[in-house]
Amino acid sequence: MQTLEKLKHRVWYQTPVSETDRPILGAVVGDRMTLMIDAGNSEAHAQLFLSELEKLRIPSPRMVVLTHWHWDHIFGLPALDIPSIASNLTKAEMEKLIPYQWTDEALDERVKSGIEIEFCASAIKNEYGNDRSIKVKLPDITFENILEIDLGGVSCQLQRVGGDHSPDSVVVYIKEEKILFLGDAIYANLYASKWNYTADCVLQLLDALEQFDADTYILSHGTAISKAEYQVETAMLRKAARLTEEFEGQMEEMKNAYQSSVNRELNGNELETIQYFANGYELKGPSTGSDI
Ligand SMILES: [Zn+2]
Repeated sequence: MQTLEKLKHRVWYQTPVSETDRPILGAVVGDRMTLMIDAGNSEAHAQLFLSELEKLRIPSPRMVVLTHWHWDHIFGLPALDIPSIASNLTKAEMEKLIPYQWTDEALDERVKSGIEIEFCASAIKNEYGNDRSIKVKLPDITFENILEIDLGGVSCQLQRVGGDHSPDSVVVYIKEEKILFLGDAIYANLYASKWNYTADCVLQLLDALEQFDADTYILSHGTAISKAEYQVETAMLRKAARLTEEFEGQMEEMKNAYQSSVNRELNGNELETIQYFANGYELKGPSTGSDI
């Protein structure tokens, strides 16, 4: 059951659903207008968000920003009759989706050829059932790196930060509220034979995110976390990235070094993260360079 949660004074977000991969949708409510963050994984998802806002008499969004091109953040767009904003990279990636069909056969075929991944194909089947009336609507307004939107009393800075998950990833910084909406930016790259992180790309991303003076961070498939929780997560990513470089992606050595540096058994999140870095090293080698 999805709920609408209020964060501080001007930000609302709808909780995610893991089975159908529905991400968090956000609303930043200014004195003059409301900005919606991400369009959802289906028209039903977008409509549910709008109706929940309406129930609480929150002014309906007048614009929507897309954090990146992945299906679960954009397929709700045709249900929104408002201008949409995205980075030019996001638009270019969305254009590639236009010719696709979304039947089980077409999805399975794309999974087989490596264009689609099983994780998304099965979430699409779960979200849509037999009704695959999926349309890709392109964003109306694009920007390259930074765009600032003044909503009246609160402003949002949209900034492309890239990262392994998707090179077009945009974060939304809500300055007056000290909230950073991260989208999926700090997650691993899932569109690969093995889910992975690359050391230099992660370090560059985390450095870029440090410029934002935030005390609350929103992870699209998680929840809103405090600065302290964010710092635990990013310290782990930085440590795993450095060990990947030091031990050239050798999983066992990385694990042992991590364990002795923290002087305890590693938890599931740490082990998974180290595995993703080892995968990234195996797939891409030591010097990949970032996309941004
Ligand atoms: Zn994503």
